[in-house]
Amino acid sequence: MSTSSPLCQLNGGCMGCCGHDFGSKEQMQQAITENTQEFNTAHPQTEQQFLTFRDRAHPFDLRYGVCRNLIEEKGCHLCPLHPTRHRGKDLRIGHCDTNYLCQTATLFAGWNTQQQEAFIHFIEAKKIDHLTYSIAMDNNTLLKEFLDQEKISVK
Ligand code: SF4
Ligand code: SF4
Repeated sequence: MSTSSPLCQLNGGCMGCCGHDFGSKEQMQQAITENTQEFNTAHPQTEQQFLTFRDRAHPFDLRYGVCRNLIEEKGCHLCPLHPTRHRGKDLRIGHCDTNYLCQTATLFAGWNTQQQEAFIHFIEAKKIDHLTYSIAMDNNTLLKEFLDQEKISVK
């Protein structure tokens, strides 16, 4: 997942960068469950074991659109390749683009403070769970609805 926009942290954390063209929320959860089972079976401890787990599938070989490295731990969805788990070394590099920003986050960065606050309030008012949020960020449906509502045009 990217951490370059405040939008990435909303709604319990966005997973929209951890795949694309997601299936349903239930399929997304199923993919994460299967990934987690594989992770627990592999039980990686060393850096090489984490890389072996990471490279067990091609980066484009997704489950219902979900990256095969996205797992669940203690009720949280996370990437076990993140640098915070490897003394600062980013094991995601070579697998996904850690600098990627979705269209919504890219546009959001160019808005003024008032527009940004309006968008955050718009999202919060939806009261959606973080998987639904992630799907909506990936397919731009929240962005489109907000732009229509605010009558903002995008060039
Ligand atoms: S899809 Fe957008 S908001 Fe979600 S993690 Fe990626 S850059 Fe952040
Ligand atoms: S490697 Fe990790 S951060 Fe990158 S897409 Fe997969 S789960 Fe997300």
